[in-house]
Amino acid sequence: MRRWEECSRCGKTGRVLFTPGVCSECLGVDVGGTCTRCGLEDRLHSGGRCERCVLTEHIGKVFNDCGDAGRAVAQRLAASPSPNPRSSLNWLEQSPTAAGR
Ligand SMILES: [Zn+2]
Ligand SMILES: [Zn+2]
Repeated sequence: MRRWEECSRCGKTGRVLFTPGVCSECLGVDVGGTCTRCGLEDRLHSGGRCERCVLTEHIGKVFNDCGDAGRAVAQRLAASPSPNPRSSLNWLEQSPTAAGR
């Protein structure tokens, strides 16, 4: 999800969005932050935590009620670095088992 590249506008190397990369400074938005859970500097999802931490927490909530099989899935998901935490989050949030729905 995170890409560190040279900004196509100002030439500074940093966290960029889109292709070709444009840094958040040039976009005029602040997409960064420091996760209160893992301390990683990243785009924060909610509650001051990065997508990965929110995802990990979600996974725990969703699957801990599912018995041993669910916990095994949760551990697998939490352990493997997702290439796209955001899409996993969307999937979990839309999942009927999520959030006790
Ligand atoms: Zn820039
Ligand atoms: Zn984090």
